[in-house]
Amino acid sequence: MNEQNPEHVFDTIVVGSGISGGWAAKELCDKGLKTLVLDRGKDVKHIKDYPTAMKAPWEFPHRGRLPLKVLEENPIAARCYAYDETAAHFFLKDKDQPYIQEKPFDWIRPDQVGGKSLMWARQTQRWSRYDFEGPARDGFAVEWPFTYEELAPWYSHVELFAGISGNRDGLDTLPDGEFLPPWEMNRAEQSMRVKIEARHRDRNVIIGRCAHLTAPQQVHKDQGRMQCQARHLCQRGCPFGGYFSSNASTLPWAAKTGNLTLKPDSIVHSIIYDDAKGKATGVRVIDAHTKKITEYFAKIIFVNASTLSTNLILLNSTSRRFPNGLGNDNGLLGKYIAFHNYRGHLYASLEGMEDRYYSGKRPCAVMMPNFRNVHRQETDFQRGYMVFFSAARSGWGHAVGGDQAGAAFKTAIADPGGWNVFMMMQGETIPKETNHVRLSKDQVDPWGIPQLITSVGYDENDERLLKDFLDTGAEMLETAGAKNIAATDTKQAPGLDIHEVGGVRMGKDPATSLLNKWNQLHHCPNVLVTDGACMVSTSTQNPSLTFMAITARAVDHAVAELKKGNL
Ligand SMILES: Cc1cc2nc3c(=O)[nH]c(=O)nc-3n(C[C@H](O)[C@H](O)[C@H](O)COP(=O)(O)OP(=O)(O)OC[C@H]3O[C@@H](n4cnc5c(N)ncnc54)[C@H](O)[C@@H]3O)c2cc1C
Repeated sequence: MNEQNPEHVFDTIVVGSGISGGWAAKELCDKGLKTLVLDRGKDVKHIKDYPTAMKAPWEFPHRGRLPLKVLEENPIAARCYAYDETAAHFFLKDKDQPYIQEKPFDWIRPDQVGGKSLMWARQTQRWSRYDFEGPARDGFAVEWPFTYEELAPWYSHVELFAGISGNRDGLDTLPDGEFLPPWEMNRAEQSMRVKIEARHRDRNVIIGRCAHLTAPQQVHKDQGRMQCQARHLCQRGCPFGGYFSSNASTLPWAAKTGNLTLKPDSIVHSIIYDDAKGKATGVRVIDAHTKKITEYFAKIIFVNASTLSTNLILLNSTSRRFPNGLGNDNGLLGKYIAFHNYRGHLYASLEGMEDRYYSGKRPCAVMMPNFRNVHRQETDFQRGYMVFFSAARSGWGHAVGGDQAGAAFKTAIADPGGWNVFMMMQGETIPKETNHVRLSKDQVDPWGIPQLITSVGYDENDERLLKDFLDTGAEMLETAGAKNIAATDTKQAPGLDIHEVGGVRMGKDPATSLLNKWNQLHHCPNVLVTDGACMVSTSTQNPSLTFMAITARAVDHAVAELKKGNL
């Protein structure tokens, strides 16, 4: 069907236009390939389709909060902090893609071109060699098929284009990147830094690194992007292009080459495998409105639908050659899912420094790169955690809300209040075969696609790591002079971290992995997976910068192979 229709034939197809798919599109189009990008969500054009971006609080009927009915209809999306009246239109409605939670799993999904790149919190750190070496050293998952040194030039490549702010801290646990000027710690954070670092020589307190333009360079101006205004309204979409999103950056860049065809409202059902040709030839797509099925064809297919959706698509891509899902000869497709343990929160107050202020809304926190088990196994749990914290005055904008009005309200918002500290963890979880997703045999979504079953949970290692963070974090807050320290285990379900990875992991051995070191399926090399599904492990860093770098590297290799006639 349609294979003879030139409008259905491209050099490459990219499934998904979020952070990783946007990068695949940009790199492929830059290299001259006619590229079709398919996304299940609605189209969202930069600036034009950010309906709430410039609204004042009083212009929202519910002052930013969502009506109870909406929350009750979307219990999964509603657990995400960014799901509110200003940004709910960027979230997939729960009913549009039901799935079966064999164990609780909050699957947060976007509903538009650009994917979660519009909604993300934009924290971006490189992995270190300790992260890539982790599985082999500690004997879990499989060995990563490449090293930090191999990925480093690709980190540079994507950092320069996306625009990453950060300080050059010279740490081997968190390598420096191609940074724009850093944001600054406020006075309270600086004082905490001095005290914590003086007490613990192995711990570093640094300013966060994030995908915000603190000093736009020519390449950012060429994308039509401008300096971040520190408005902290990012989840509405940024009309300044102050933060990196596919919509502001990679997709319009790809479009400018003339090589991009973008089709929103296109739900990829499966990848078409041709038994006779021994390769994938295209994708099967359901129109989100009419449910009409269309097929598109290409020499290379990038699957970038985000971790679990990519797993779903591959599991649903069955053929005579691959009855259990594309490339799934070893039965490991959908297995070894990992995520970040976000359960530990600490709150405290700091006395003094009441003559010290700050201005603007900094889009990042202070960070402490992982200091647990870095050089050797030291604790009763494997791996470690990144710590984030920030100190802020408790008054000012925090007083806005409720039903205050008049003079009392004015006085309240003019009072800075004392200093409060919030600290949280981002803990590595160990990928396990039992943490998996699979397809339901009898339940389908509104488009007739089998529902995904999520079976992903915490284990004893996660509990020990959490306890260590809560104890250690409280001790560091005490060291920093904080008072009223309160610890919470949020008990949040996996998934709400929105950093899920794995299921289609890379590796050296086709018996224990699905993808080779260039992200090609071992058994179907013209299909590449470069979103979180390809990851062997999670590390303690935010994931998306690594997805971008891996994607750019994979495109470079795939196009070279195509030119050599190997694909
Ligand atoms: C509130 C929030 C905060 C976050 N903060 C951070 C952070 O600070 N740092 C960080 O690194 N990461 C963060 N993340 C995670 C980050 O957004 C994801 O890691 C990243 O977007 C993943 O990129 P992706 O390309 O794999 O998927 P996405 O960006 O989700 O894009 C996938 C695209 O595929 C489309 N799609 C799905 N299924 C299909 C299908 N069947 N057919 C066609 N298209 C399909 C989707 O519509 C979507 O557009 C955050 C996420 C959220 C929601």
